Amino acid sequence: KATLGVLGGGQLGRMFVHAAQRLGYFTAVLEPDAQSPAGLVSHHHIQTGYDDPAGLAQLAQLCQAITTEFENVPAHTLQTLALTRPVAPGATVVGIAQNRIEEKAHFADCAAVSGVTCAPYTVIETPAQLQAVQAERKDLLPGILKTARMGYDGKGQVRVRTAAELEAAWAELGGVACVLEKMLPLTAECSVLVARGWDGQVVSYAPQRNVHVDGILAVTHAYEGSLPPALATRARDAAVSIAQHLGYVGVLCVEFFVVEDGSEHGGLVVNEMAPRPHNSGHYTLDACDASQFDLQVHAMAGLPLPEPRQHSPAIMLNLLGDVWFDANGQPHEPDWATVLSLPGTHLHLYRKLQARAGRKMGHLTITGPDVASVKTVARRAADLLGLPGLDAI
Ligand code: ATP
Ligand code: MG
Ligand code: MG
Repeated sequence: KATLGVLGGGQLGRMFVHAAQRLGYFTAVLEPDAQSPAGLVSHHHIQTGYDDPAGLAQLAQLCQAITTEFENVPAHTLQTLALTRPVAPGATVVGIAQNRIEEKAHFADCAAVSGVTCAPYTVIETPAQLQAVQAERKDLLPGILKTARMGYDGKGQVRVRTAAELEAAWAELGGVACVLEKMLPLTAECSVLVARGWDGQVVSYAPQRNVHVDGILAVTHAYEGSLPPALATRARDAAVSIAQHLGYVGVLCVEFFVVEDGSEHGGLVVNEMAPRPHNSGHYTLDACDASQFDLQVHAMAGLPLPEPRQHSPAIMLNLLGDVWFDANGQPHEPDWATVLSLPGTHLHLYRKLQARAGRKMGHLTITGPDVASVKTVARRAADLLGLPGLDAI
């Protein structure tokens, strides 16, 4: 059966479908929303929830192999599918990535091999653990309280300075399982994309530097020199060893913090991982000879993984829903003609029907012959579109 399946119908699923179709595969998307970005471009759209046994049976029936683009897909959904079809990544590793407590335990587990640790933290699941911070873990304040599950784009996190603020924040988050992480003095952030096959073959991309605004990725810098070379090598090696230690199959993104020199962390701290292609890897579509979605298709279908080569320096600008509103909050269509008249601009729109502030609607990647010209065009495009993070380009 030359059909590949994906759980989730968002933009990551859409770009996966495009990559799969280019290789001649049919695709099947399981997604409850009738108008999803991936469902609209897939051969099959199974419009049902992740818990529907009939829908899962239909997906398994249709597909040669199945992957996920939705980070919070229930583990039992993946387990059910894995009874009859290859599923990559598997339920166990997705489960680890879905829960910050397990995720951090995994990072600690492979710290000896990866050479990186995560930020100092403690688990808060009970009022007693909350009280214990005051008595025993004052070193974690100021810190960030993060829900163990379901957080993304900075949602489900509260920054806290004092024990009193911590108590209020835990109540605000509903008293659910959380981690309290020490606030680190970040000088930069970066991420690494790794692809690993069923046979253990591993390929990776060089780390890219990410700039977040209000907890959401705004700009990705992908070119040599965007990070100190020694640090980039360490991050890449660490990400590969984390994927190997997990026995991971598919595309994994590992996010890192770069912290001030002279700290006890040696300059590099692992933050979290996503068990799928990642927003910070979208530049690979236009700047590399194999994109993160191509590698996802190859990995799950059991094809050899090409060592990806970046042929152009690139900057990616995220296009959030805010771009579709003018200064008075009135809906307006951005001036794409002017943006696309700039050299080396590659516009990707996900065909979401409703623009909302903070919603990921598309991205613009700028490639060029050298870093200086890429930066010049990126600044002009960001300025034209009124994008944040302009000062960081
Ligand atoms: P994503 O959408 O990437 O999954 P998320 O909601 O899971 O995001 P994190 O990646 O944990 O959240 O944090 C979001 C951002 O908040 C980070 O990229 C970083 O800018 C900042 N941040 C998080 N933890 C810390 C920390 N311990 N010290 C300093 N800044 C932090
Ligand atoms: Mg996250
Ligand atoms: Mg993150």
